[in-house]
Amino acid sequence: MFENLSDRLGGVFDRLTKQGALSEDDVRTALREVRVALLEADVSLPVVRNFVKSVEKKATGAAVTKSVTPGQQVVKIVHDELIEMLTGEGEPGQLRIDQAPAPILMVGLQGSGKTTTTAKLAKRLTERDKKKVLMASLDVNRPAAMEQLEILGKQIGVDTLPIVKGEDPVAIAKRAKTQASLGGYDVYMLDTAGRLHIDQELIAQAAAVRDVANPRETLLVVDGLTGQDAVNVATEFDDKIGVSGVVLTRMDGDGRGGAALSMRAITGKPIKFVGLGEKMDALETFEPERVAGRILGMGDIVALVEKAQHTLEAEQAERMMKRFQKGQFNMNDLKMQLEQMQKMGGMEGMMSMMPGMGKMAKQMDGAGIDDSMLRRQIALINSMTKKERANPALLQASRKKRIAAGSGLEVSELNKLLKMQRQMGDMMKKMGKMGKGGMLKQAMS
Ligand code: GDP
Repeated sequence: MFENLSDRLGGVFDRLTKQGALSEDDVRTALREVRVALLEADVSLPVVRNFVKSVEKKATGAAVTKSVTPGQQVVKIVHDELIEMLTGEGEPGQLRIDQAPAPILMVGLQGSGKTTTTAKLAKRLTERDKKKVLMASLDVNRPAAMEQLEILGKQIGVDTLPIVKGEDPVAIAKRAKTQASLGGYDVYMLDTAGRLHIDQELIAQAAAVRDVANPRETLLVVDGLTGQDAVNVATEFDDKIGVSGVVLTRMDGDGRGGAALSMRAITGKPIKFVGLGEKMDALETFEPERVAGRILGMGDIVALVEKAQHTLEAEQAERMMKRFQKGQFNMNDLKMQLEQMQKMGGMEGMMSMMPGMGKMAKQMDGAGIDDSMLRRQIALINSMTKKERANPALLQASRKKRIAAGSGLEVSELNKLLKMQRQMGDMMKKMGKMGKGGMLKQAMS
């Protein structure tokens, strides 16, 4: 799975990480190669475009740490971005099968590996999740398909619904439901008929079954070797029937893997499992982190950058603490705090997270600060010069007027902001002296 892509990217990043200093041009060249590698792996163009744009943006804005090279940092950014691209809702491999008997509807084109996957998943649910599973084939057009499921069932020791000739798919689905309830099954799986192409009859049949079974999960099985087509099929099935997740089969082949990488981004549906062979245990949970790791094959570098980032954050917090203890709390610090507050839902939200601070928050002018106020305060700080931010004592009447005018606000608001900066500075200093650094750090991280 992903070997070619992995080799290609490996080459790009090997060169990049070996270089010490890195210019913007170097990064751009590397990203161009990443772009080509992804396109050659058959990842869809819009997905590639977004991916590269996002990596480029993050690479330009990344905080620089001395202990890692820019190249290593780019690897980490690509790694994180890959995970983001692949991650859907919920835990990897989790299915909503809590209410027994939980129906799982299996849909897909003929030959995609639907019946095989139904049996693989039934085996997994039985063995790993200790569920009692019933399988039923609804493929009335192909008796061989019904028999195939029965044979697989025997092979893996999972029950199948007895075949009754002449029954239509909806009747079979109803019988499966009844049998699952009476027989105390946790899960029943409905293996619908496939066609070579999506046609109206196929969709109508699957929709009718869906309506009687009310499936908790509708899993679409698609052949990973078909690349972009797999993504198109998924989009169409989702539009017409609604799917909750995708199983990509034949990922054991040396396909280019693009389907796996485009699927989530284009269809919005997560890949839940991948098929890695014909054997009954050749089914794996699709785990974005592992897949990203496999594609990049640069786990060491990712771990190194993560560690460096933590160290950098800790150092920054430490430096800030020392300054606060000395009573140095300027407008840059205040701006950071205000932005933090924005994220945490205002002053009270923030204070309420700090033990013992609730009362202090109420005594301060800042209590009850809401989002619009935070935005105005940040606008005021943005209107200050670098020097003024670093040393708010410079702010005399004429400067105040200029700043207020620059942000379209009143001087009285600026005065309030200055008072707040002084109060918070005092508070930070006191807290530092009380030796509650841990608490303050927590609030700032
Ligand atoms: P259906 O028509 O969609 O039900 O497809 P089947 O389940 O009958 O599978 C068609 C063929 O694909 C069978 O020969 C399977 O053994 C094979 N197959 C299914 N999944 C995989 C997979 O993940 N890898 C490989 N290599 N073959 C698979």
